[in-house]
Amino acid sequence: INEELVCLGCGTQIQSEDPDKAGYTPKSTLAKKDILCKRCFRLKHYNEIQDVDITDDDFLKMVSNIQNKKGLVVHLIDIFDVSGSLLTNLPRIVGDHPILLVGNKKDLLPKSTSERQLIHWLRRSAKEYGLKVIDVALISSIKGHGMKDLSLMIEKYRKGRDVFIVGTTNVGKSTFINRLIKESTGENDVITTSYFPGTTLGFIEIPLDEKSYMIDTPGIVNRKQLSHYVSDNDLKMIHPIKEIKPRVYQLNAEQTLFFGGLARIDFIKGNRQSFVCYFSNRLPIHRTKLAKADELYKNHLGKMLSPPDEITLAMLPPLVKHSFRLGAGKSDIVFPGLGWITVAGERITVDVYAPKGIAVGIRDALI
Ligand code: GDP
Repeated sequence: INEELVCLGCGTQIQSEDPDKAGYTPKSTLAKKDILCKRCFRLKHYNEIQDVDITDDDFLKMVSNIQNKKGLVVHLIDIFDVSGSLLTNLPRIVGDHPILLVGNKKDLLPKSTSERQLIHWLRRSAKEYGLKVIDVALISSIKGHGMKDLSLMIEKYRKGRDVFIVGTTNVGKSTFINRLIKESTGENDVITTSYFPGTTLGFIEIPLDEKSYMIDTPGIVNRKQLSHYVSDNDLKMIHPIKEIKPRVYQLNAEQTLFFGGLARIDFIKGNRQSFVCYFSNRLPIHRTKLAKADELYKNHLGKMLSPPDEITLAMLPPLVKHSFRLGAGKSDIVFPGLGWITVAGERITVDVYAPKGIAVGIRDALI
């Protein structure tokens, strides 16, 4: 009998041929009785959802849950990787719910950074990305900074309704939710229920009062993030865990900086000036002459220029060049997920290299 196998989570027909297509399950798990496709497996066990596309049926089914209920959307982003974690299509996903933008991991920025300025900057960035937000908050969910104020803000804006927590993976959503539960209930271990019935993908709900819930939506995997192309060990090197100590380089034209072997900047044209580098303190930065840079990269990638380690090297896309001409105004040259370089606003030309698919960009200086 040719029995058709379907995923218990989403109802899609199971297949083992194409990992990128719907319903994929490795052959080794086919013998099991209750089969989940890889995607639903990740969702169930890691509360994580692969790259979402607004045309994606499963995802639409899931978020229609949000669209049909009234509530406040709390969009958590990683202040260290704003462009990689800001969900610019959020309004299309959540409909006309009010969105409260929360920048997490503020402990990573130098203590001297002005909070007011940061909030202002976040508000402006959201607007530039076309994301309308009712308010902006800055927190560190690890340290607990800003959590009390945020709890008050949430109470004010939710008006007795549900709260949906939305974010990409790695923004610190789990850490944040645990903190928030502690702040709002004073308890450490509130029981969370994961709901996964029939063919609808569900959310984790935490009661706020008799009538309303805080709802943890699955972390959205953004494949453009560098973190998906590096080994666990390298991730520890590139993802800062402590306050970033900016490293300042006075460069002349025709000098180059390497960030491990993962990114590179060539100062092509302009007067001598400072390049302020905000990267994990553990990521080595090497300065060299532009004329020697290609050779250095060829001979020392994975050795002196590391990360990448061997595992990363096997999966890392090749470096691609982007050229930028910068004018007046302090700007950041951003390597999403890796860090950024602040330049002071003189006319300069730079060539910037990053792994293919990583959206290098320029923004108004964050700090
Ligand atoms: P999730 O995938 O969004 O649920 O993220 P997690 O809560 O698992 O956190 C992802 C990583 O970010 C972990 O290494 C956390 O320790 C770290 N993290 C979370 N919140 C903060 C924060 O406020 N500051 C810093 N420095 N790291 C954080």
